[in-house]
Amino acid sequence: MSEKLRIAIVGFGEIARRQHVPAIARTAGAALAAVVDPKTSQMEASADLPHFRDLQTLLREGPEIDAVALCTPPQVRHAQAAIALAARKHVLLEKPPGATVSEITPLLAAAQAAERTLFATWHSRYSPAVEPARKLLADRKITKVTIIWKEDVRVWHPGQAWIFEAGGFGVFDPGINALSILTRILPFPVFVRKAELAVPSNREGPIAADLDFSYESGVPVRAEFDFRQIGAPTWEILCETDAGRVALLRGGRQLQDGDRLIVDAEKDEYPALYRHFLALTADGKSDVDLAPLQLVADSFMLGRRRFVEAFED
Ligand code: NAP
Repeated sequence: MSEKLRIAIVGFGEIARRQHVPAIARTAGAALAAVVDPKTSQMEASADLPHFRDLQTLLREGPEIDAVALCTPPQVRHAQAAIALAARKHVLLEKPPGATVSEITPLLAAAQAAERTLFATWHSRYSPAVEPARKLLADRKITKVTIIWKEDVRVWHPGQAWIFEAGGFGVFDPGINALSILTRILPFPVFVRKAELAVPSNREGPIAADLDFSYESGVPVRAEFDFRQIGAPTWEILCETDAGRVALLRGGRQLQDGDRLIVDAEKDEYPALYRHFLALTADGKSDVDLAPLQLVADSFMLGRRRFVEAFED
């Protein structure tokens, strides 16, 4: 075993390049050892970084690695995780951890059998205002929660055809980030009561969703997801409480308690995420919380579909 955790990134697209590469570089104890992507040339990936077209070729012919970070679209993630665990590599899964809920259980079993870590990441939970919000809400009586998660798909997901394909989640691809925060900060679990999904007539996945959640005492928890926002995105979770409004703004960068701005910081989620991954591998543990994925699955299960105007990129 080398001193550093040697990581291969699988799926060298937007998030891999923008966040994973710099985060690994900033993580003491981690090193980027190789890249797997069907189309990225080695020159694009990095002048001296080994590049492979698929994971099997990397495992057969590549340099020794200890872990893979799967940054591929969710539809292909399970097969890659299964191959990596069978080869006794630690596995970090980008969000969402898979295209279905049930595919995760055999991966956990495989991780246990291989004595390797399976880490289902939820990067939004590492936003600077999320933990302070959780602590604030723990002492409050929450009376209403409203999530507004809206962005322009053409700006944030250009050319990502997979996102509107079955298993790509449509507007739930960013929406699950909000649900990952919600399920972290609320002191109680919620379940889906009603879901309205707007699906473009030429696509498989929803472009917008209105969701009603509930929990035992009936406090209304609502979410509006929309990919058709023009201009700046809106990523907000507004919690009305017995002591005023607690507002988590800018995707978890800002926290406002009534009129007071308590947190206002830039996001730096991925280094913390990699530090946690390293700690898990050192401790021989896995971290897999399926609550956000379950809420998405339930929204699809219960959701009423309404076909709307075709979407062209
Ligand atoms: P992306 O830009 O489309 O990147 C995905 C990459 O994976 C592409 O280079 C793609 O190549 C490659 N790929 C597809 N199938 C593959 C396979 N079988 N083996 C190896 N590589 C394969 O998408 P992304 O935005 O990075 O998103 C990837 C995941 O990260 C998604 O689950 C997303 O929810 C999550 N994420 C994204 C963001 C973000 O802001 N973009 C933020 C956080 C998390 P081709 O293009 O040739 O298919």
